[in-house]
Amino acid sequence: MKIEMGTILETKDLNYRYEGGKHALKNVSVKIPTGCKVAFVGPNGAGKSTLFMHFNGILKQTDGIVEYNSKKVEHSKKGLIELRKDVTFVMQNPDDQIFNVIVEDDIAFGPFNLDLPMDEIRKRVDEALKMVGMENERKRPIHHLSFGQRKRIAVASALAMHPKVLIMDEPTAGLDPEMVHRLYEIADEVNMSGSTVIISTHDVETAYSWADLVIVLVNGEVLAQGTPAEVFSMKDVLDKAGLSVPMVHGLNEFMSTNGRSNIYGRTMSTVLLNMRRGVIPGTLYVMRPGYTGKVYGRTGVYGSASRSFIESNNITIQLGFNAIERCVEDILNGNDASLYLDTSLDHVLDRKLLDVAAHGITIAVEECH
Ligand code: ADP
Repeated sequence: MKIEMGTILETKDLNYRYEGGKHALKNVSVKIPTGCKVAFVGPNGAGKSTLFMHFNGILKQTDGIVEYNSKKVEHSKKGLIELRKDVTFVMQNPDDQIFNVIVEDDIAFGPFNLDLPMDEIRKRVDEALKMVGMENERKRPIHHLSFGQRKRIAVASALAMHPKVLIMDEPTAGLDPEMVHRLYEIADEVNMSGSTVIISTHDVETAYSWADLVIVLVNGEVLAQGTPAEVFSMKDVLDKAGLSVPMVHGLNEFMSTNGRSNIYGRTMSTVLLNMRRGVIPGTLYVMRPGYTGKVYGRTGVYGSASRSFIESNNITIQLGFNAIERCVEDILNGNDASLYLDTSLDHVLDRKLLDVAAHGITIAVEECH
């Protein structure tokens, strides 16, 4: 998380009625802090997509206020063009969003409309395709791709805009498990570059471990907003929203009520910390793209530049997804681990090491040259 001061998006008493009368948003007041990772959770029909469509001006409120950077969203042509330069929305169904025939044309479409030079457009298309692992499909007709692949193209099109706010409506629905982890890694990369990332999801486990701020919507109303630990401790809210308690939260809560720990970590490695019995932790060896020397223990990769290096050099990886967390789990089990990590994502590792340090354990980190 790179929380800067200020609020990037805000709604005040926002109401929206669809034609036909459905009152889909009821007095919704939310503040999205700049540079934050936000997860909206709640059942189908809660109003998440409707709210997102207000954030980038697809829908206009029936009543209330929507602000971007403390200015009311203008629904003039100019106002909307300006807003959508910064606020990019990946719809739940990629087929609602994709309208070019060939993969690379679809990704180039947004940057082309920003009047960027051709070199820059090409660079952005390459980079976005690489990030979603679709660089070999660039010339393919989109209708030949699977649902999950089309979804990845929709995400790549958004990434190519270099948005200040990236909004993704159920981005992981229809993706295979590895791509789900990859998507959260991409979201971290976008966030680390200073952008705000907003998603909706039914996956409480990931909302819990990934988000800085969780907002619960039910039946068009905001039921709760706060840190993941705050929100997932509100049993009555979870019941009303039909949400389960994330497993890690439940385990940490159990250990807390049993006096084993009062630290509510957000991932499985913190559960391991709470249960630890004198295991001497291993060392984390950090490698950067360009390093081809010795590795120690199982090897993970986190970040696009590192991934690209690993692939082009045929380096074997055991921890290909969720790698920071999985390396730390290995280390807490007494093994060494190696991690190819983009320098731009050092913050994500630092945050993880701080979580561990809160339990009184310092993980030794060695940078490999
Ligand atoms: P969520 O994204 O949380 O599943 P939505 O924002 O899609 O919820 O829907 C909120 C409510 O608005 C639901 O009751 C849904 O049926 C209704 N709704 C959504 N789209 C339309 C539409 N185009 N016309 C009428 N009602 C709609």
